[in-house]
Amino acid sequence: MTNQNTEVPEIREPLPQGNRTPLIAGNWKMNLDHLQAIALVQKLAWGLKDVRHDFSEAEVAVFPPFTDLRSVQTLLAADKLSLTLGAQDVSPHESGAYTGDISAAMLAKLDVRYALVGHSERRHGHSESDDTVGLKARAAHAAGIVPMICVGETAEDLEQHGAAAIPIAQLTAALAHLPQDAEFVVAYEPVWAIGSGQAATPEQAEEVARALREHLRELRGDDRAVAIRVLYGGSVASQNIAGFMRQPNIDGALIGGASLKVDEFTRIIQFKKHVTAG
Ligand code: PEP
Repeated sequence: MTNQNTEVPEIREPLPQGNRTPLIAGNWKMNLDHLQAIALVQKLAWGLKDVRHDFSEAEVAVFPPFTDLRSVQTLLAADKLSLTLGAQDVSPHESGAYTGDISAAMLAKLDVRYALVGHSERRHGHSESDDTVGLKARAAHAAGIVPMICVGETAEDLEQHGAAAIPIAQLTAALAHLPQDAEFVVAYEPVWAIGSGQAATPEQAEEVARALREHLRELRGDDRAVAIRVLYGGSVASQNIAGFMRQPNIDGALIGGASLKVDEFTRIIQFKKHVTAG
């Protein structure tokens, strides 16, 4: 019940843990042509078969460059592989005079299930605003694609505002463009941790993931907040994945560099082995 007479913040019941399927997502960035992409996905599929990976225990998605999507889609369909396909970006527009853009409808035709929106390399390298990120998320959702909304603070943000303020503001801005019932994934990626080899500690990442989930309660209600997956990204490797996956509010990882090394990515996907062993 809301306390209207005092300034004391309402103490809410903790959310139940929920039943979220972990998601391990590989963002290849601008690497691998379509032939190299086919070779990597084949090798990954064989590797996962060898270790008898159970996809109901951890979903695995790959996010190749646009030019590889058709080849990877064809391979996944022909060999009935259980990997899911993601795109690294999507246009906020439906169609028309937007040279260089790729629409969500085009991606949906290629069985793309997820689209990254707001990756820090787009926010910073291409000056994408919170508004643009929200419009991209909306365009993806409208075409039946699940937006993976990337949020994260720079090193300066961290010093000035703490870890959670900027990610929460970015998520709030993006969600303002999405219908209440839209499915989405949140990827918390501190900018200072991406590609730097300096990952957040599991405790730091959990603190922000928990703050994001608490904020989702306000924006979307408890049931959705329990169901939505929050991933951590930023210098994830097989040596540190277990620590992240032990955290109650972290439901997977968005992985850049390490997703290009099949053996390493396979070990990361097998995080359960390390989690239960550790
Ligand atoms: C990313 O590109 O989203 C990422 C987290 O990169 P890396 O794993 O290389 O830090």
